[in-house]
Amino acid sequence: MREALLPVYAPPEEIFTRGEGVRLFTEDGTAYLDFIAGIAVNALGHAHPAMIDALTEQAGKLWHTSNMFRVPAGEELSEKYCANTFADQVFFTNSGTEAIECALKTARKYHWANGEPERQEILTFTGAFHGRSFAAINAGGNPNYLEGFGEPMAGFKQLQFGDHEAFKAAISKETCAVLIEPVQGEGGVRDLPEKCLIGIRELCNETGTMLIYDEVQCGAGRTGKLFAHQWCDGKADPDIMAVAKGVGGGFPLGACLVTEEAGKGMRVGSHGSTYGGNPLAMAVGNAVFDEMTKPGFMDEVNRVAGTLKQGLASLADRHPEIVEEVRGKGLLIGLKLKVPPKPVQGLARAKKLLTGVAGDNVLRLAPPLVITDADVREAIAVLDECLAEAKASESS
Ligand SMILES: *Cc1c(COP(=O)(O)O)cnc(C)c1O
Repeated sequence: MREALLPVYAPPEEIFTRGEGVRLFTEDGTAYLDFIAGIAVNALGHAHPAMIDALTEQAGKLWHTSNMFRVPAGEELSEKYCANTFADQVFFTNSGTEAIECALKTARKYHWANGEPERQEILTFTGAFHGRSFAAINAGGNPNYLEGFGEPMAGFKQLQFGDHEAFKAAISKETCAVLIEPVQGEGGVRDLPEKCLIGIRELCNETGTMLIYDEVQCGAGRTGKLFAHQWCDGKADPDIMAVAKGVGGGFPLGACLVTEEAGKGMRVGSHGSTYGGNPLAMAVGNAVFDEMTKPGFMDEVNRVAGTLKQGLASLADRHPEIVEEVRGKGLLIGLKLKVPPKPVQGLARAKKLLTGVAGDNVLRLAPPLVITDADVREAIAVLDECLAEAKASESS
């Protein structure tokens, strides 16, 4: 029956009908270990009781009023985000793309409010992924995603990821904003060193440029801090940040976080969303936030991430013909392979381990944040077999 779907995806045959913790089950009860979590979305795993309670309780009360009316749970969640980040204000969305859209518009509007409407150029980086709207594909710059969709949109300039000299040459008092993922997801699970983020922050300060982080994938506890840039201890805070994926834990939810200064151009009527921040999304968003900020939660993420990293490093040692290096941060991590990653992903799926792939030949892992050491051992053992099989088929 797939024929009636626009064929922009090519999923495998498995159909999952149930999830529990870090496992997904097909109709016949076959269990799969989920190390991709709907692309870094199911941060608390599947069917987490706190999320089920929040959603079902809200579902019996009120689903939607639109932002014509106050949504108290949204006011509550925005205060929680602000109390735990650089931000002073929040706009809720249904997706990462919409959070990016709000971020880009907020940056342009900031300069407009300052009487500098000509400051429109937004600097982005190779390997970036920011979503699939017109603005987002132009920001991302991936030629595959732009092909056939008409003239490139003006106002975006792409620089080499990690090339600080090129960045220094490109940024000026005419630049509108810099948009960057502190850890690139789709582009190949590439972690930008903290000193680079700090350097970018400093040049943005010198030129009055808005610094926008896309933490749609690397945020929500994925790197072992609530947000990845927080590893810089306040030395590289953004002006604007887009988040999504894990913050809803599986319910469609995103947010654009801003400082009061950065948001000063956004007034009644500047932006909007019918669904964004509706009562169902806010109920779940609060539940996810409360779980993630429980004492000890992030310590455990960091501990198990260390175990996973060690396991992957041992795979890299054991399979040097196939594995180039371990990439990423926390539980957004991957193996850069010397062979295409899709066949390895397929071998793993046949052994009931679900993984992802990313650009630059990377096998990507983004498991639920609640995995245990036993889950890690199981995944590493499966990957060990898969890499051995991939090596055998390479040499045959
Ligand atoms: C997934 C992703 C997006 C887009 O989010 P959607 O919810 O798919 O619209 C944007 N930026 C990054 C870094 C992402 O990983």
